[in-house]
Amino acid sequence: MSAEPHFPFIFTPQLRKRLSRRAVDMLLKAFGEFPELKGQIITVGYTSAHLGSALVPLREEAVARLTIRVKIHKLTYNTIGHELTHLLQGLSKIHFKAGKASEAMPFGEKQCDIWTLARSPLFLDDAPTYIRLPRAMREDWPRYAKSVRRLCIAALKKRRTHRLYMQWLEAKIKDLAKRPVEPKPGEQMGLPF
Ligand SMILES: [Zn+2]
Repeated sequence: MSAEPHFPFIFTPQLRKRLSRRAVDMLLKAFGEFPELKGQIITVGYTSAHLGSALVPLREEAVARLTIRVKIHKLTYNTIGHELTHLLQGLSKIHFKAGKASEAMPFGEKQCDIWTLARSPLFLDDAPTYIRLPRAMREDWPRYAKSVRRLCIAALKKRRTHRLYMQWLEAKIKDLAKRPVEPKPGEQMGLPF
């Protein structure tokens, strides 16, 4: 008997044709950030229309057929994390309804982005799609990524007492974009001569 952890993915033929070693490694690394999904088998398919998509499980029967789809070209951890978080949105609701969890993760795209960024710095490699970001921030995402993640974590704490936590988050993000930014590593401070 092998003590190896099981391989958590089934790849559709359409995806397998396009799959690289690097993409498989990325999927595995992202999956490792989701202890809630441990022991699940996830079907990973291919999409050309979006960065990714997920079939959010709504009933117990769907738990056995967890499915996400990704675009392999320019695959990011952020996309994988976002799609896996969609699976959790459904699973947590199913567990909640069955009385196995005290609260459920809310549905929604923006919610999915917030929970994804809060989960791990791994998912900061690309800007989130649905959280409203000022253009300057979207264009210079690496410079703001860590601060936005901190705000997402704060927003999830805020949510316990504050119904409008997403508005709160986006207002804080807007403030952040107005603040003078720190220089990039290795960049000079731009002192006048
Ligand atoms: Zn989504």
